[in-house]
Order: sequence, then structure tokens, then C-alpha cells
Amino acid sequence: MKTAVAGAGHGGLVAAALLAKAGHDVTVYEKKKREELGHDWEDRFTFSLLSEITGKEIDGNSWRYRGDCAFVSPSYKTRVIINYSDENRQKIMERKYLINELVDFAAESGVKFRFETEITGAYIRENRVSGIKTRGETVEADLVIDAAGVFSPVRMSLPEDFGIEKELARGDLFYAKRAYFNKTDGDMPDVPFEVYLCHDREQGLSWCCINEDSVDILIGRIDPLDDGKFEKCAENFRKAHPCIGDKIIRGGQSAVIPVRRPLALMTAPGYAAAGDSAFMTTPMNGMGIDLSLKAGRLLAETIIKNKNAKPETLWEYNRKFHALYGGMTAKNEGLKNSLLEVPGEGVDFLFDSAVIQASDLAGAGAKTSIVSLLGKFIRGMKAPGYFFAIIRGLIKGAGLKKALESAPRDYDLKKTAEWQKRTEQNTVKVTRK
Ligand SMILES: Cc1cc2nc3c(=O)[nH]c(=O)nc-3n(C[C@H](O)[C@H](O)[C@H](O)COP(=O)(O)OP(=O)(O)OC[C@H]3O[C@@H](n4cnc5c(N)ncnc54)[C@H](O)[C@@H]3O)c2cc1C
Repeated sequence: MKTAVAGAGHGGLVAAALLAKAGHDVTVYEKKKREELGHDWEDRFTFSLLSEITGKEIDGNSWRYRGDCAFVSPSYKTRVIINYSDENRQKIMERKYLINELVDFAAESGVKFRFETEITGAYIRENRVSGIKTRGETVEADLVIDAAGVFSPVRMSLPEDFGIEKELARGDLFYAKRAYFNKTDGDMPDVPFEVYLCHDREQGLSWCCINEDSVDILIGRIDPLDDGKFEKCAENFRKAHPCIGDKIIRGGQSAVIPVRRPLALMTAPGYAAAGDSAFMTTPMNGMGIDLSLKAGRLLAETIIKNKNAKPETLWEYNRKFHALYGGMTAKNEGLKNSLLEVPGEGVDFLFDSAVIQASDLAGAGAKTSIVSLLGKFIRGMKAPGYFFAIIRGLIKGAGLKKALESAPRDYDLKKTAEWQKRTEQNTVKVTRK
């Protein structure tokens, strides 16, 4: 089977490698040069997943631990501190190392690469995706794996009757800029990693992470950033932490992160998306590496098991993705969007009155006891409008999870369209400007 992978996204590289290992003819088409792949910064994800996939040990120089974390309310009055234990302390890895490991793994598995090749869209013949169009040629393929990121030209050029969403709503994306500044003295604060919610009273967040040798600053907003915004935030952080220098020593790139539920429909005849092209991130924190890697592996395993990439096989991948991961990760879209709907003073109230606590922010899956919920309810009822906005978000999120996890068993465009509508009914829209 001839497979074209659009873009050297993480999930596409994993699927490419596993399919090539199983004897498929796979080529990755990537617009950048190999040495330009990946960002010049570090990311958090599950390292064991990477070694499990590539079968290789991780180089000890490629990562470091991140310190304890403080979530800061918009007024700066309340800081919710998360002290990590040794077992669950956050580890961050160089993105360039990660992407190089995946490219090497794919190449060693027999995948061919065409770097500096920009894809312009899908090649459609007889109502199926039959390849890709690049600047200059049409490449025919039995399967196209879309790993070309948020603005994938392949997804954007699919025929409407495949039912795959193209339009994004406000709040679905985070416009981010991230850079590492020099550090002018050696002091390390007790809590080196600060995350500011609704920072500067704007819809989004910022972080400031003081490392031994540098300071990592990120700002993310749901509306496009203007040029001065990043410098203004860095200047604010400098007032609180005079050790932040004014030279950018790494990074400095702008990028977009999907922060919404994954696409309900992410496959069509001859087409399957994996990674940011299908918005596979956790909405609250924009983490998408684990999900991309898992999606790539699931896609390849499903094709190998069925010995084909027929629409029914791709649908099995689509359905299983939601049952295993999509529903769970989409769950907190409701909470994220309802927090975006609440103005800064509302977020202050939720922090100051301990409706939002360390246990809510420490990570997904933390259990909340009835006693703690009751306490939140009593405190939250001092401002019921804000409190119920959050509760509504949580309820909608639970409904979205349930809807995504109950996809129709068979691939049938009428049934899948009805199911997609059901998932949309469980979303919280961002209307506040
Ligand atoms: C600032 C920032 C911090 C983040 N931090 C984390 C984190 O700590 N942990 C985490 O899990 N996730 C994090 N993420 C999210 C994470 O980067 C993505 O979710 C993840 O990389 C999956 O994306 P992808 O591989 O599918 O797509 P991408 O990484 O966007 O890769 C797409 C590839 O396709 C190529 N491409 C695009 N268009 C074309 C075209 N027309 N023709 C050919 N090639 C094309 C691109 O050049 C690129 O190589 C962060 C994102 C940002 C922006």
C-alpha cells in the first residue's frame, strides 16, 4: 500500500515508521528542511511513550526537571502552589531532540522523506482522497495521513460532503509566543514556575519559568498577538523578578496551539488525520505530543491488523481514538471555555474563595471528594453567576465526553453526521470579547 504522509508532524512520523516496518511504501512530504524541524524550546510529555515506540533509551542530556508551580490569579492576590513529589515532578525535553528521534526512527524503518516540499491540498478522484498536491506535482497514494498541523491544507481542501470540520471558533486556538531570556543573577525562587491565568485581564495565560541559566517566558491569547504584547509582559515579569535579562537567547518564535476538542470526524475515504491537524490536544493546557504519538500508533496498528486502509478500517481508528483518548481529553473543553467566559474579577473570585484549588490544577484525573465539593459549593454561592458558569462548563464537558465516546459502530455518513451534531450540542461557546 502506498501512503503519503502530509507534514512531518509527530503522529504522522510514528504512523509512517510503523507502517513502513510492516512493509508499506511510505513517504513523508514536509515543507521545511530537516534541520529546521521542531521548535527551539522544551516540552512536557510522557517520555516512556517515546522509548516504548522507538525502542531506544532517552539521552540524559536531552531533558531536565521543572520546579514547583504556582498558579496566579488575575489580580496577583492569590497563588495556588503545586508542590510536586519526586515521582510526579514535571520533566521537559528539548523539542528538537524529540523530533529528531522520530525522524531517525522513521528513516531506519524504511520511510522515505521529501523535505522542502510544500503541500497545497488533497488530490481528490472519484469521491475519495487519492493523493496530495504539492507545488509542482500531484502524488497519487492509497492513503494520505494528515500530519500537517493546525492549518493543514489537506484538511482545508477536503470536499464538504466528507463532513470534516474546517472552520474554527474563537477560543479554539491559542496564539502563543515563547522565548528564553538571559538571567542576570543566580538566585532561584522557591517556586520557579508561575502560570498567570487571565493575565493582564486578557483571555489567555502567560508563564514565567526561572531556570538555573535562563528564564522561559510564554504568552498565549485566544486572539492574535500584536508585536508589543510579548515585550510588555516580559517587562511586567522583570518588575517582579529583576533577574530576568533583556536578551532573547533561545526561541522567540510565535506558534498556534489548538485548545479545543479533537475533530469528531477525522477520517474519510483515503484520509486519516493525526495530531494538531485533528486538534488532538488537551484543551486546558494545549498538550498534544502524547495524543499525537498515541494516535499515530493506533492508526498504524489498526491498518496493519485489518491489512487494509478501507474507509471502515479508518473509521475504526476514528472511533477507537475517541473511546480511548478523545472523549477524556475533550472533557475539559467546557471548563476551559467557561473560564474564558468569566471576566477577570470572576476568575479572581474563584481563586480567592478557593473554588479553584491546587487539586483542580495539579493535573487531569485528580479525584474530588464530596466534602471538598460541598465546601466549594458553599464558598462558590457567594457569587452564584461565576460559580454556575463553571459548573455548567463541567456538566457540558462530561456530556461531550459521553457523546464522543459513543460514535456509531459502522462508517455511514448519515449516522456520523448526526453523531457529530450531538457532540457539538455539548460544547460551550466563547462569546465574551
Ligand atoms: C508554545 C507551544 C508550547 C507547547 N508545549 C507543549 C508541551 O509542553 N507538551 C505538549 O504535549 N504539547 C505542547 N505543545 C503542542 C504540541 O506542539 C502539538 O500539539 C504537537 O506537536 C502535535 O502537533 P503535530 O505534530 O500534529 O503538528 P506540528 O508540530 O504542527 O507539525 C506539522 C508539520 O507539518 C509541516 N507542514 C505544515 N504545513 C505543511 C505543508 N503545507 N506542506 C508540507 N508540510 C507542512 C510543518 O512544517 C510541521 O513540520 C506546544 C505548542 C506550542 C506552540
